[in-house]
Amino acid sequence: MIPNTKRTSLSPKSVRRVANPTPPDRTPGNVFASHREYKKWTRARISTHHTMLDATRTYVRGPGDSRAHPGGSNEVPFQRVAVTGIHATGVPLEDLIRAASLLIEAMAMRRHYMEISNQSFPSTLALYLTSRDVPQRMPDKHRQSADFNQALLSIDNNAAEQYLQLKNSSSEELHRPLANITLSPQRSDSRFPLVSTLSVVRPADTIRTSIESHEDILQPLLPGVYLDPWACPMPPDRHYTCRWVRGVVSVYRSEADANADRPLPYRTLSFQQYIEDLGRLTAMIADGPLKSFCFRRLSYLSSKFKMHALLNELHELALQKAVPHRDFYNISITSYKPTSTLRKVDTHIHAASCMNQKHLLRFIKRTLRQHANEVVALQNGNPMTLKLVFEEMQLDAYDLNVDILDVHADRNTFHRFDKFNAKYNPVGESRLREVFLKTDNYMNGTYFANIIKEVMGDLQENKYTYSEPRISIYCKNKQEWTKLATWAVRNDVHSPHVRWLVQVPRLYDIYRINKLLKNFQEFLNNLFEPLFEVSVDPSSNPDLHKFLAHVIGFDSVDDESKPENPILHEDVKTPEEWDDEENPPYAYYLYYMYANIVALNQLRKEQGLNTFVLRPHCGEAGPATHLSAGFLLAENISHGLMLRKVPVLQYVYYLAQIFIAMSPLSNNSLFLRYHRNPLPDFFARGLRVTLSTDDPLQFHYTREPLMEEYSIAAQAWKFSSCDMCELARNSVIMSGFPHEMKQYWLGPEYLREGPAGNDITRTNVPDVRISFRHETLLDELDNLFTMKQYWLGPEYLREGPAGNDITRTNVPDVRISFRHETLLDELDNLFTAPVT
Ligand SMILES: [Zn+2]
Repeated sequence: MIPNTKRTSLSPKSVRRVANPTPPDRTPGNVFASHREYKKWTRARISTHHTMLDATRTYVRGPGDSRAHPGGSNEVPFQRVAVTGIHATGVPLEDLIRAASLLIEAMAMRRHYMEISNQSFPSTLALYLTSRDVPQRMPDKHRQSADFNQALLSIDNNAAEQYLQLKNSSSEELHRPLANITLSPQRSDSRFPLVSTLSVVRPADTIRTSIESHEDILQPLLPGVYLDPWACPMPPDRHYTCRWVRGVVSVYRSEADANADRPLPYRTLSFQQYIEDLGRLTAMIADGPLKSFCFRRLSYLSSKFKMHALLNELHELALQKAVPHRDFYNISITSYKPTSTLRKVDTHIHAASCMNQKHLLRFIKRTLRQHANEVVALQNGNPMTLKLVFEEMQLDAYDLNVDILDVHADRNTFHRFDKFNAKYNPVGESRLREVFLKTDNYMNGTYFANIIKEVMGDLQENKYTYSEPRISIYCKNKQEWTKLATWAVRNDVHSPHVRWLVQVPRLYDIYRINKLLKNFQEFLNNLFEPLFEVSVDPSSNPDLHKFLAHVIGFDSVDDESKPENPILHEDVKTPEEWDDEENPPYAYYLYYMYANIVALNQLRKEQGLNTFVLRPHCGEAGPATHLSAGFLLAENISHGLMLRKVPVLQYVYYLAQIFIAMSPLSNNSLFLRYHRNPLPDFFARGLRVTLSTDDPLQFHYTREPLMEEYSIAAQAWKFSSCDMCELARNSVIMSGFPHEMKQYWLGPEYLREGPAGNDITRTNVPDVRISFRHETLLDELDNLFTMKQYWLGPEYLREGPAGNDITRTNVPDVRISFRHETLLDELDNLFTAPVT
């Protein structure tokens, strides 16, 4: 009764495959039949060729892989684990059909939210969602030959020895020119190329230097020319008018249009729609059969990864060894620099705590020695020098030590976010935080700028580490944006290693109690009005305009475990009506940030300016609704710990390949002990996780906090070198650095999913791993999307009764016929009308 699907049936072909493998053309028992063959392999194991898109791609051949060029197909040879048979997912067909329809609905929702806000969505999944049939995979015929001719590996002791002692080969072949580099200091992405500020074509033979940044590329070409990092295009004033409509900005071409209520045709997403979608997700999370289905799939994915590691670990390691001058640290020990190094991006870190405690201590001592008589604050209208501030606390530079500074998280901060927040105050004094760690104080944040620049200097020295620090906008008044931008531009705080995110603490209730704000609308005014003004007319606030070119998006921060009213309904108060002292719920904050970013991005795109993404703290603690809201609204999230308790969400985060910046050391001090952290599980299942530091001031000890994070993860969870490189690669893809820089770091075609987008010579991740992840994901999607025909019947696309299947839809053909014939009659009337 149940027709077999192509993928899940045990086809005669695969039976034959098992019974009668094509005999290998090599002596069994040895990878290399002769020494000569080993030499040949050494010489020719790296080859490049041009892909269809005319970009160069490098292949590294593992020992035992055939010399036949894989150019004809994208099939990467390795040991695959396959599941065949009709009950492939292990649940009854009815459950599978239901689960598939719900999960596809969830993904379609996310696609819509991402599309209208200019945030990214995986292209493969989009293809599945839009095409009528399940997209075609590689034909079985090909897979059969690939399995036996290309991936033959039979290891004896000798070969294993060779495997593990591969030497570096020359990297001559690896240096290849990248044509026509378009450069821009702004965040850019491939979908919306920006107006470029500079366009440079490099001759092929000058490429052999380390390319770190735009400055690095340009300086040798333009000796003596100072490149202004704050240079960016200055589009003309559009004279648009902006007005608030129920908490979201509407943009009008002119004042007259605004009065007539004719907004520009920007896409929007109403609060009602959002509440409805959120409700659908909440229902899905609670759905019993769906929960079991997702839980089973997640368990399967864990086991599958274990099998993959068991079978391919050595192969992956061999491929990594075969790549010259690339490893996890990438410290070049040879006389010339590598073309590009494996980059790591710290995708979640707060600017106010981006230095470690020792660094802050030394900085304070040094400042106290050198600038003791500088006026740093006012007390009751009287100027206070730095010396005086310390004298009042009865401290001198000699006494100060890390213990007195007392900024490190300890046992007392576990489940006490309030205590943790207090750790931001050095020596427990908010005055020192004010003087040293704020951008807006009596001396306009000079000290903070200086220490941030020292951290940036360290990053530049490390070369391979990049970071995306969060800097605060509190939304107490409208001048905050200008002050922040002026701070950055006047103090020249910038680095090619840094892109900013703006964090908005959810502190409306505090300001309301202190009577700084009347209602939530004023909070939104302070956040967004300056941005719309400067985007309409950049010359109205040049500093802010320049600063925004270095900003990639918004973050929403605060203690998620605070109790909140979890029920959001359609008739909840609008921001204008929200004037009580209660804080709006998390999902409410996030929607109004998202909805205004949607409008802002469309305006900025029209102006040729960089757009912003939403990357909130989400799922560190608190209810599952936070993660549902993040699933709909955010391009990626930080933490995501609570996914471990919500299998349905965890599975859709996997299917939609949403990046999650996790910080296990931070969790260890605040919410979840290290050994219980779900990161290794998430990683095994194929969720796109990265490692990040959160707050080096509170959690880390060394000058390289990100390396500390990787190192502890590797030790505690036994990550292989391939795992570590995969995490690093994830962090680069997740980051908001410009498209062109990502091309240098990952390969020109990094946006293509699967092995076609990987370049092992840059990422040090073998194609084997990327293929495994990609094929596993496609298998999951195939399982779900082949069910599509079951909801409505295989002919559901045909109009009229021919497309109806009453056994599935429960709609009688009578009704469908009536609808169809009525429509045809109307059309007939129109088309047969006499021509006048
Ligand atoms: Zn954080």
